[in-house]
Amino acid sequence: MCGECGCGEKEKSLNINQDILKDNKRKAKSLRILLDKNKILSVNIMGSPGSGKTSLIEKTVMLCGEGKRFGVIEGDLETDLDHQRLKSIGVNSIQINTGTVCHLDAEMVEEAIKRMPLGEIDFLFIENVGNLVCPSLFDLGTHINVVLLSVTEGEDKPLKYPLIFKRADVILLTKVDLVPFLRLDEEILIRNIKRINSKAPVIKVSAVTEEGIKDWINLLESFRKDPVPLL
Ligand code: MG
Ligand code: ZN
Repeated sequence: MCGECGCGEKEKSLNINQDILKDNKRKAKSLRILLDKNKILSVNIMGSPGSGKTSLIEKTVMLCGEGKRFGVIEGDLETDLDHQRLKSIGVNSIQINTGTVCHLDAEMVEEAIKRMPLGEIDFLFIENVGNLVCPSLFDLGTHINVVLLSVTEGEDKPLKYPLIFKRADVILLTKVDLVPFLRLDEEILIRNIKRINSKAPVIKVSAVTEEGIKDWINLLESFRKDPVPLL
């Protein structure tokens, strides 16, 4: 676990945490200015390990059609497996290995962006470390926060991990092709999401059947046309 998410010594870590978060915010702001200058819409993709973050990025790239250029920053503790997956379909991708750190921060993104051909990108996806806790605390200089929740995770997760859902601009319910095989009450799940965040659109998607992927792409394009104001 990381000190940043508050699991260290209580009072001492609180001051450190505030400084870290303040510094992070400053870096994130200047990243957003850089991305705006380059007319790039950047998207923080968050969700548990195995919620389908990389699959969503793959399908988005594949179904988006001609003329859209993507860059991806991949955050994982170890390995470059996701980076290789994306490279194999021709995506500009950079891997960040965080070692023991369970989230990405603006400094890591800043370093990765230096290696990105910004003039050749319209959309930058930043796939965060699989985790529903501290990624929500760290602004990465992105324009929108997207949280994935797979139907296999159960109805209660929005209530148990409210902060990340609260800060989401878009919530994607993933792996919906599996619903017939699960003991899941979808209505309760949606109600729980809405209890935490009534504003964010919720889209049901499946990377297998491609259900909802076009809706997600349309929403993404609308964010690019009508950018969210700077934080
Ligand atoms: Mg992944
Ligand atoms: Zn963390």
